[in-house]
Amino acid sequence: MEKKNILIFVLDQLAWRALDIHGGFAAAPNIAKLAQDGVDVDECYCPYPLCQPSRASFWTGKFSHRNRVWSNGRKWKITEIGEDVPTLGSVFSEHGYQTMHFGKKHDGGALRGFWCDEEKEKWIADENPAFPFNMDTYADAYTVERSVDYLSSYSYEKPLMMVVDLINPHNICGWIGKNRGVHDDVPFSGALPELPPNYHFDDIANRPIPVQYLCCSHVRQSQTVGWTDMNFRHYLAAYSYYLGIADSYIGRVLEALDKSGGRDDTLIVLFSDHGDNITSRQSVTKQVTLYEEVVRVPLIFSGCKVGRKGVHVKGLASLLDLFPTLCSYASIPVPEGLDGMDISSIFSSGDIPKREYVESEWFTEWGYTISPGRMIRSGQWKYIRYLEGDGEELYDLQHDPYEMRNLAGVAEYFAKKEMMRALLAKHLDKTDDPFLSLNWKASPKWRSHELGYQCHRGITAPEDTEEQ
Ligand code: ZN
Repeated sequence: MEKKNILIFVLDQLAWRALDIHGGFAAAPNIAKLAQDGVDVDECYCPYPLCQPSRASFWTGKFSHRNRVWSNGRKWKITEIGEDVPTLGSVFSEHGYQTMHFGKKHDGGALRGFWCDEEKEKWIADENPAFPFNMDTYADAYTVERSVDYLSSYSYEKPLMMVVDLINPHNICGWIGKNRGVHDDVPFSGALPELPPNYHFDDIANRPIPVQYLCCSHVRQSQTVGWTDMNFRHYLAAYSYYLGIADSYIGRVLEALDKSGGRDDTLIVLFSDHGDNITSRQSVTKQVTLYEEVVRVPLIFSGCKVGRKGVHVKGLASLLDLFPTLCSYASIPVPEGLDGMDISSIFSSGDIPKREYVESEWFTEWGYTISPGRMIRSGQWKYIRYLEGDGEELYDLQHDPYEMRNLAGVAEYFAKKEMMRALLAKHLDKTDDPFLSLNWKASPKWRSHELGYQCHRGITAPEDTEEQ
């Protein structure tokens, strides 16, 4: 009988646009090889640009508003995914798969059904003084070692679904803390990436309030006050470096897969839980916004099981598609009530099934500020709505891929905006999304300074966080 093993690489905070294979500044040769040996989905969106909600969504195949994992936790406590909710791990283990997970969890209970390795760290020495390692890279060092060990001794008597869940390039968050405020860059040998076309943010007055005050609800953004253009370019270099670490670890796991003899029978999947602002609008990491840099993520299906090679797949996709797609691939019945679509036809045809729209949502990070938002992408159009201040955004991604001009207030686009509003309303209704009745909460204290992230002073909304 045909074997259908599945090896899944998850990265944390990898923006689609950052990768050199997508025209970006960051080289990742092992990821590039995977893309060459399969299909690379060009327009895949995460369901929520934050770790835990995104992860809980793709492991259960359900929107955050349906599985109620709406934040990273802390002040806003989440309810863990119930035992009755099918998860990717539970469904595949029930159908005879050996379901193994190594690395970062942060899943709100959505990894149920996987045997999860302990999350531990392995200290490794810094290789470059400009780019120090922290617990994120130490965790990855442990994950890769355990993953390689496991694959090396796997017998393949049962089909294997194995997740290698890496945290990098997330080490960039700690790097910001080490380089907060006015500072001199630590020199390094190598090219310094150019800033993106949307680095300058002249349109900030024309954006919704939660976007205008991103610096007030996000400690990492506030730590960039005082940064120069050159400091931001070093951010990109550091991001690229930490991605390179993850990429080399992916290479090590693939080598172990080869040696185990499982390569020909294994579908390889790679994606990221969400993106990173990568200095667009002079912003860093993720949170609150729903711009392309943070919601659009790589999604690659690779290996002998994928009939098409080196294809950039056009058409909209969502990480919610993962669950039904993998079920379909493994000839396992798709559970009822999933929110994604089976896109496994791209393995053979290279074409993605057409859909009307994809959606991404935001509620809060830890619960200190709450700014519910929704994003609808349909065709070339993208519409964003926040409850706070009834903030709206409309972008024509065909003519403005960097979202530099918000068209929501431009009279000639009112008809288009109405269409996108109606599409959002239809989505809210269809998926029982309580978005419009949610309360938002942002103290005036965090909405008080002159516009511009560089005008921020002092601490941010999570006053009692230890991350200050
Ligand atoms: Zn601020």
